[in-house]
Formats: sequence, structure tokens, C-alpha cells
Amino acid sequence: MSETRGNVDASCMDDFDPNSLSVDAAVQRIQSAIQPLTGFERLAIRSALGRTLAANVHSTIDVPGHTNSAMDGYAINGSDIPTDGVRELHLLGTSWAGRPYAGKVVQGQCVRIMTGAAMPQGTDTVVIQERVEQTGDRIRFDAKQQRGQNVRQAGEDIARGDLVLKVGKRLLPADIGLLASLGIIEVTVYRRLRVAFFSTGDELRALGEPLETGAIYDSNRYTLHGMLRRMGAEIIDMGVVRDVREDLHAAFLEAATAADAIITSGGVSVGEADFVKETLEKVGDISFWKVAMKPGRPLAFGRVRDSLFFGLPGNPVSVMVTFYLFVQPALRKLMGDLHSATYTLKVPCSSRLRKRPGRVEYQRGVLERDQDQTVVRKTGPQGSGILSSMSEANCFIVLPLESSGVSPGEVVEVLPFAGLV
Ligand code: AMP
Ligand code: MG
Repeated sequence: MSETRGNVDASCMDDFDPNSLSVDAAVQRIQSAIQPLTGFERLAIRSALGRTLAANVHSTIDVPGHTNSAMDGYAINGSDIPTDGVRELHLLGTSWAGRPYAGKVVQGQCVRIMTGAAMPQGTDTVVIQERVEQTGDRIRFDAKQQRGQNVRQAGEDIARGDLVLKVGKRLLPADIGLLASLGIIEVTVYRRLRVAFFSTGDELRALGEPLETGAIYDSNRYTLHGMLRRMGAEIIDMGVVRDVREDLHAAFLEAATAADAIITSGGVSVGEADFVKETLEKVGDISFWKVAMKPGRPLAFGRVRDSLFFGLPGNPVSVMVTFYLFVQPALRKLMGDLHSATYTLKVPCSSRLRKRPGRVEYQRGVLERDQDQTVVRKTGPQGSGILSSMSEANCFIVLPLESSGVSPGEVVEVLPFAGLV
């Protein structure tokens, strides 16, 4: 793999680096280097939540299985609806959900019916109870009824043989419920993805250790842990690895043996990069990219043996932005997930945003209601080390390469965190 130039004409952009790659090009390169995992397993549907289907699911039944009432009311034959005035019918009995009315209904007759109960033979319409006057075994209703109203047809949701869920579908709560509604007990899913990660840096301390001058707590492993857990990966936390050649070398090889993907943070920026870079070049096939974005410009991507490798920048916000943009879609593809898509929204921005042209910026924003519309405002200071800006935010405000800032009221594009970061 080698570096290429961004395909943008940005000669007048003061923050533009001609050796940098666009975000889209970086995403494309990563995605095209990935094949889904090959291991599968059968799981009970509840255990398959968050996993990806490895085989299509077809229905073996009609849903609903019988034509039934959508409301509490009276099942009638549509030919008994009067053209005007009022109609009176003779009430035969009741059809309960799970306890249908066994008899037949002919003209001039009706059956009391509950929501979900099977429509008795001879009926095709339900008049809701609020529209009916009942006296003993007689009911009366007016002409304002439509034949077939308030009835759910057998198979109207799903017919026997229908393709219900496709290979590559990540299973969410609605899908698990849908599988249950079809009586499906187990599904075939991709095996769980194993992801190893560690932080690099001599300044990093574990929680519980004292902080001497210049030392900081390692927060990246905690945000990474959270994001990976939400993605449903099996997590291998390898701790902090010091900036020592032998330690790094051993850590990369250990990670490659244990995991399908390796994520590191720190040590990929220019200046300090050479050391980690040197080790990576020895153990794997890695390219170092400068991506035309802020935060998160440096990024390493490639393979160590059979594992994918992502070298994220060290700054805490950069870790989250690059994870969201590059690692997340890559891991999704590796997990076999073919259909999940990120989406953006366009909303007015209530803050003034400062920016220099030349890089795409992912500023941290809060989507919120302002009277009757949704707007976005920025969180406080936007430095790439200021993790509280992420903590407060619920979206990224995406400012394109050429933008030179935003005035209040201008429409901007936002990328909602959508439960991941
Ligand atoms: P680096 O990319 O290694 O030069 O790191 C860039 C910045 O991020 C430095 O200020 C580091 O101290 C900080 N940093 C690196 N790794 C971590 C981490 N695991 N947790 C918190 N901050 C970090
Ligand atoms: Mg470092």
C-alpha cells in the first residue's frame, strides 16, 4: 500500500496538505481491503441480538395465521352495512383472541369480537364498539362503515415462503421479535469478531497509579472498550505498551495471534511516528496516511499476519472520530454486516463555527429542539484532546474541506452518534 494525493483542487486552501488523502478515499481503501469472516454458529434467537445473519431466513407460516379483528367491536358481513339510516343485527356470541367463535354467521347476524380474535365464518368487516348501540342480543349501527374495515388479513404481514431477513442483516430487537413471530428458534450468524487493542505511550498511567508531572491517565482504552462493546465484539484489552521497541514488537505479534483486528492509539503522528512505524513495517504490511480531516489526521492501516491493523492517533477525540469513520464500517464489514448504513441530517446551526479551509472538520455538536424545529449547536472548546466535548455531544457537525466557517442560522450537515460513540 502506498500514499496517494487527495483528489481535490485545493490550491487556495491554507490548511490543505497535498499529500493527504480524502476521508472518502481512506474509507474506500479500507473497505476494499476487507472480506467478511468465515466462521458461523447457530444461536438461539435471543443470543443472536446484535449479531449478523449468515443465512437468509424464510417464513414457514403466514403472519397473521388467520384473518382477525384489528379492534374490539362486532364482526359482521359487509352486505349488512345500510346505504343510509340504521341497521339492526342479531348477536350470536363472542369471538375472543385465542378462543374463536365456532359457528357460522349469516345475513342479519353478528358476533362480538375482540382485537386479535379470528373472524367468524361469514364475516368480513368489524364495526368498532364505539359505533354500536347494544341492547340485549340486538345491535344497531349506522351507514358510515366500509366493507372490510378493521380486519387484518391472514398473511398480510408475511406470507409463507417469503424472504424475511437477508444474509448480512444485523439483528436488532425488532428482528428478534419478528423471528419469534414466525416460530423460529435458532438462526445462523457470523461468529463473534475478536478485537485486540492497546495504548502506546510512556506518559500513560493505569487508573489507580499516581500521576507524576507529565503523566496522564490512559483514557483511550476506555472509550475504545465502550465502542467495541457496543458493536458486539469480543474484546482483548492488552493494556498500555511502553514506547520500547521489543515490547511493541511482542505486543503486535501477540495481538495478531489472538484477534481478527488490532487497534492501537498513539504513536502515529509525525515526529514520534518513526519508532512505532519501524516496528509496524517489520511485523506487518502497513501504510501511514495523512487524512485531510480534523481531528485525526494521521492514521495507519494494514495487516499484521492475518489480522487487520488500525493505528489511530493518540488524542482522545481523534480516537473517537477515526473509530467512528474508519474502524466502525470496517469492523461491520468484517462481521458480515452488509446493510447497516450511517446517515447524515441537514439542520440549522445555532452557533458560529470557526474553521479554516483545507480539511474536513468533525466538530462536536448537540442536536436539540428549539421551539418547533431541530437545530444543532457546538459544544465548548473543540481541541482534539478535549474529551468533554465528546461527552457533551450527540453528533458530529461535518464541515466540508472548502468551508471557512459557519454563521448562526446556516444549514450544516450532522452525523448523529446513533448509540455508538
Ligand atoms: P501521540 O499520537 O502518541 O503523539 O499522542 C497524541 C496526544 O494524545 C498526546 O498528548 C498523548 O499524551 C495523548 N494520548 C495518547 N494516548 C493516549 C491515551 N491512551 N489516553 C489519553 N491520551 C492519550
Ligand atoms: Mg505517544
